[in-house]
Parts: sequence; C-alpha cells; structure tokens
Amino acid sequence: MSEMIDGKAVAARVKEAARIRAVEFERANGRKIGLAVVRVGDDPASCIYVRNKIKACEQCGVASYTHVFDEKTTQAELIDFLGKLNADANVDGILVQLPLPKHIDERACIAAISPQKDADGFNAVNAGKLFLGERDGVVACTPRGIIELIRSTGVSIAGKHAVVVGRSNIVGKPIAALLLNNDATVTVCHSKTQDLREYTLSADILVVAVGKKHFITADMIKRGAVVIDVGMNRDETGLYGDVDYENAKDVAGHITPVPGGVGPMTVAMLISNTVDGACK
Ligand code: NDP
Repeated sequence: MSEMIDGKAVAARVKEAARIRAVEFERANGRKIGLAVVRVGDDPASCIYVRNKIKACEQCGVASYTHVFDEKTTQAELIDFLGKLNADANVDGILVQLPLPKHIDERACIAAISPQKDADGFNAVNAGKLFLGERDGVVACTPRGIIELIRSTGVSIAGKHAVVVGRSNIVGKPIAALLLNNDATVTVCHSKTQDLREYTLSADILVVAVGKKHFITADMIKRGAVVIDVGMNRDETGLYGDVDYENAKDVAGHITPVPGGVGPMTVAMLISNTVDGACK
C-alpha cells in the first residue's frame, strides 16, 4: 500500500512561504508584487485556470492584473501589449494563458515576454538556462512543482532511475532536465518508444505526462516507486489522471492523486516564480 502525495498540502506550504515574502516585499518597496494574466478568447478550461491563478494571487498578497482580449485579436496587437507589460514597473510576472487562438503563434508571443518576467518559464532563454544547468533562470511551474512533490516524500533523487513518459516543451522535456540536474539517471519515453513497459517497470521515479486517461496501469509500475501523475483528462464523469490510481496505489511507494496532486503545485509555483522575479 502506497503513501498518497498530498499536492494540496505541499502547495499550501509553498504558497504560505510566497505570501510571507510578498508581505516583506510590499513593506520594503511600498507596492504589491504584481502578476499580469493575459487571456485571449473564452476557452472554458482557460477561464477556469485563470480564475484559479487569480485566487492564488489573492491568497498570497500578490496583485493580479487580468487582461482579456477578444478571440480575433491579432498577433501584432498581443505582442505590442506584452511589450507594455514588460515596461510596466508594477508588473513582476507575465502569464499568457495557453492555448492561444490558431492564428496566433504561441512561440512568438512567449518570446516577446521579457525573460525576467516570464512567470511560466516557457521563454527560450529560461528553457535554455534550465538545460545548461544555470540556476538563475525561471523554471517552468509544473516541473518545478513535481520536484517539490518528490522531495516531500523524503526519497532522494540522486542516483535513481527516473523515467519520464511524454516529451512536451511544458512538462516532459523540462522535468527530464530538472531530474538530470538533480543527479537522476533519466530516460524519456514518447509515442515512438518501443516496449514502454520495460522502461516504466525499471523506474524508481515515474513521471507521466501523456494526456490519456489511466494509460499507465499497475503492471507497468515497479514496486515502491514514486509515481507522479501529471495527466488531466476530463470526461463527462470527472477528472482523471494518466495513471490508474486505484490499482497503482497498491504497487507504488508514493503516488499523486488526480485531482489534488500536481495541479495545485503548478499554481503555487506560478506565485513562487512571480515572487522570485520581484525579489531578484
Ligand atoms: P502533450 O500532448 O503536449 O504531450 C503528450 C506526450 O505524450 C507527447 O510527448 C507524446 O509523444 C506522448 N505520448 C502520447 N501517446 C503516447 C504513448 N502511447 N506512449 C508514450 N508516450 C505517448 O501534453 P502535455 O505534456 O502538455 O500534457 C500532458 C498531460 O498533462 C495532459 O493531460 C495535460 O492536461 C496535463 N497537464 C497538467 C498540468 C498540471 O498542472 N497538472 C500542466 C500541464 C499539462 P510524442 O511527442 O511522440 O507525440
């Protein structure tokens, strides 16, 4: 029987630490730390995510400035606006909620955010710093949160075999780099991997970011492993992870639930990144 990794509890600790630093910043600087949140269009999932992020700002004493643009906004208009936010002294962090409408190039918009204000850590400068092992960049929120969750188990990362399933730019690649920077031996699997189970079965730490409900079954998990489920798969019956939690929990040593695992950490780390950016 495994131990559940309580993402809500770890996230609450991260947010409390950020709140204390935000209060100190306000006392010293006479203004609140500010996060600008930019949303384009009315994608329902994006609206929920933005709402959660604004709520977390309120809890931590960080000012949030929400800017909602029409679905038809052009890329040039958006990039022009991001330039204004870069220059705004009250804005310490900028977040552009993804996905953007199809006619807008997400990479161009992310590149337009100043690396110092890139609260999501998606900018190429920050991703590059992560891959070079430089510690002064902004680390993407979900991967940063995953490392905190693993640390909360007391299991050390150094020397362990960490297997990451998924190689997206926002989760798979950066968590693989972070695990490597923390001295794990890292294997990255993806849709072309042959015999996936062979890899997952040898994982002391298994991070799954695929986007398929209950894709990883109990027979794919090494007994005692730390299992981090990033997946968020919604259907008419609820929200499900990429791991078949009910069965996997009998095999894993520590495992995150969905909901209540990685999700709350992503939001907490966004606030943490914003506070770090302001305090630098
Ligand atoms: P992407 O769709 O960008 O990437 C999915 C990855 O899974 C790809 O690298 C793909 O491989 C791989 N994959 C697909 N099928 C298989 C397969 N059969 N075997 C092995 N690998 C496979 O997803 P994201 O990384 O953006 O997100 C993954 C999940 O995490 C989603 O459910 C998303 O909602 C969730 N998520 C949750 C967050 C949170 O805060 N909790 C934050 C971000 C994401 P290939 O590259 O070869 O196509």
